[in-house]
Amino acid sequence: GVVVVGSISADVTAFTRRLPRRGETVLGDDVTLVLGGKGANQAVAAARAGAPTWLVGCVGRDPFGEIVSSALRSHGVALTEVRSVGDRTGVAHIRVDASGENDIVMTPLANADLSAEMVDESIRAVRDRASVLLLQLEIPVEVACHAVEAGARAGLTVVLDPAPAQPLPDRVWPHVAVVTPNESEAAALTGVEVVDVASAERAAAWFLDRGVGHALITLGSAGALSVTRERTRHFPAYPVTPVDTTAAGDAFTGSLGAALAAGLDTATAIRRGMAAGALATTLPGASPSLPDRKAVDELLDA
Ligand code: ADP
Repeated sequence: GVVVVGSISADVTAFTRRLPRRGETVLGDDVTLVLGGKGANQAVAAARAGAPTWLVGCVGRDPFGEIVSSALRSHGVALTEVRSVGDRTGVAHIRVDASGENDIVMTPLANADLSAEMVDESIRAVRDRASVLLLQLEIPVEVACHAVEAGARAGLTVVLDPAPAQPLPDRVWPHVAVVTPNESEAAALTGVEVVDVASAERAAAWFLDRGVGHALITLGSAGALSVTRERTRHFPAYPVTPVDTTAAGDAFTGSLGAALAAGLDTATAIRRGMAAGALATTLPGASPSLPDRKAVDELLDA
């Protein structure tokens, strides 16, 4: 199975013809309220890919907490390690204009209360049933670093999606089995401007130099670059017609994690992640756009 340590939020999105100027009010066309947060999205992606999945995270005791919990449950994510703390669930406040341009205010609220002790307790609770730990950086960075080390110590394969990108202490990297930045996250962490496969290879070398086992840099419609000490491979993307690229990276990481937990070989796991990422771009929104195992099988067989 897969254990995900990460953020949970209620995504409140207003759709308008154009975004308001400072101080201006515009009329919107629609508003949606859906489950979001990179931790929750990756957990849903892993569960929909067929893996027994536990999410370790915090929600508040408010109506948003009930809404996101029931969404997680309906996608098959185990809630035993989701804690209700305080009175406020994290909220992402999103505005999207007719061209798809957006801006986002993400307020962590309950996500800020996730602690190293909670992570230790949860890893202890699920370690006999899980083999892969998925992490992102929307939770307090010291808790994410603790989770990397605790997960590796418990014998889990630690997959770190360093998003949003922020510097991590050198001691953390050797415990990361797989790092999965996109182009901009790879650039922010390594200082290498990632624009193509050759520059992605230079960025990947930065991670390997710091002790990471496998650098897997996602390149959107250009696919992904996989670099280990033994081998460098470029995987071309599956051609699709994207309508909304939100959560492509979360679909990729969740599906990759599920495939690794199922014992599939690395190249197959990468292909399943890429197919899930491609499919996520063909539907609007974050968690509602995440494909299930059958959709991934169909794209890979096509
Ligand atoms: P993020 O959403 O974190 O920026 P990417 O855009 O790199 O991540 O997407 C993750 C993976 O999803 C890519 O490696 C690719 O395989 C797939 N993907 C993303 N966008 C497209 C696209 N436009 N066409 C085909 N595949 C895509």
